[in-house]
Amino acid sequence: MKNETRMVQSGRKPEQHSGAVNVPVYRTSTVLFPDLQTYLDAERGRSYYQTSHGIDASDYCYGTSGTPTSFALQQAIAELDGAEQALLVPSGLAAISTTLLSFLSAGDHLLVVDSVYGPTRRLCHRELKRLGIETTYYPANIGSDISQYFQDNTKMVFAESPGSLTFELQDIPAIAEAAHAQDILVVTDNSWATSLYFKPFEHGVDISIQACTKYIGGHSDVLLGSISANGKHFKHLFETFHNLGVCASPDDCYLAARGLRTLIPRLKQHEETALALAKWLEQRPEIIKVLHPALPSHPDHALWKRDYTGSTGLFSIVLDKTYSNTAIEAMLNDMRVFGIGVSWGGFESLILPFNVSSSRTATRFEHCEKTCFRLFCGLEHLDDMKQDLEDGFERLTANGIS
Ligand SMILES: *Cc1c(COP(=O)(O)O)cnc(C)c1O
Repeated sequence: MKNETRMVQSGRKPEQHSGAVNVPVYRTSTVLFPDLQTYLDAERGRSYYQTSHGIDASDYCYGTSGTPTSFALQQAIAELDGAEQALLVPSGLAAISTTLLSFLSAGDHLLVVDSVYGPTRRLCHRELKRLGIETTYYPANIGSDISQYFQDNTKMVFAESPGSLTFELQDIPAIAEAAHAQDILVVTDNSWATSLYFKPFEHGVDISIQACTKYIGGHSDVLLGSISANGKHFKHLFETFHNLGVCASPDDCYLAARGLRTLIPRLKQHEETALALAKWLEQRPEIIKVLHPALPSHPDHALWKRDYTGSTGLFSIVLDKTYSNTAIEAMLNDMRVFGIGVSWGGFESLILPFNVSSSRTATRFEHCEKTCFRLFCGLEHLDDMKQDLEDGFERLTANGIS
């Protein structure tokens, strides 16, 4: 079946829920069993309810392993990712921490892309370091030369493509080939592309993470993360997930499942508007660089064309100068379409200034000394976005440079 059809049908079983189109919210801690033997069987992973509901998730005997609401969404996300199974955890960052804690132990070495999402770097620097796990950052454009970074104790490569804020792509198949030759796991944070536009498992990834908070939730009202994997990797993940107790709320799973049904048309709209806006911005005199992988001017555009089937609503711009804080405030405080706030993936547009000079350690971002903004294109009209930015640039330049 095509993606559009799958997105409507996956994970839904109306006949098991009195005909309801959407899988209802099961608010469940305790699960009751009809007799002792059924309970004991369930504890050993042969759940009575699991079989009667046709749910092929692991043991269902307490809410911490999930509920029919989360099982349904897990099944849909696994199907979309092209994985055997998926797990849901309370945030995108929890998906990252659960994955790292599942496979890394004291004395292990981890490789992380230099352009990684900031909180992932913080997690490595603070928590993993404290547990005796060492992290090295590698340049996003490393490709198969990643093998130069391998040590005897390297257990995992953590990729995120495109990189947060600066949008460098990585040659994931080349990285995966080099890593697998040494039995090293490859994990990717696929939040930007989603599995609609980058199929992680077809490109050699072992474990794929998504911040469902972003495009899958899609309405800025849910925090949720997913982890997809196959076979023994999934078994291992499930065990750590269960031991850590990082179960997702059934209400959040319900909202994310509702968001998933409209993911394709929303993403198409984000893609179309963002690409048109990016092209318009490339022509603006205040802008020296637009960091958007689907633009031919992007240094990794060829990789994008090879591995991705689309682009989404988030990209960055580099301005011609370093503007003063007063000028940036004058621009941002009076924006009418682009709101000031973190995260992205909802229906509303966002803008944030950023500076990565202190958060790149393996490489140097070439536009460090310039004012940079990350833009998220929501579902508003392109013309209103352009007008808002045009007016904003006028306020910015009128307030001069630092
Ligand atoms: C937002 C984000 C996350 C974290 O998701 P939360 O649900 O906010 O914890 C992880 N990775 C990337 C690339 C993100 O943009």
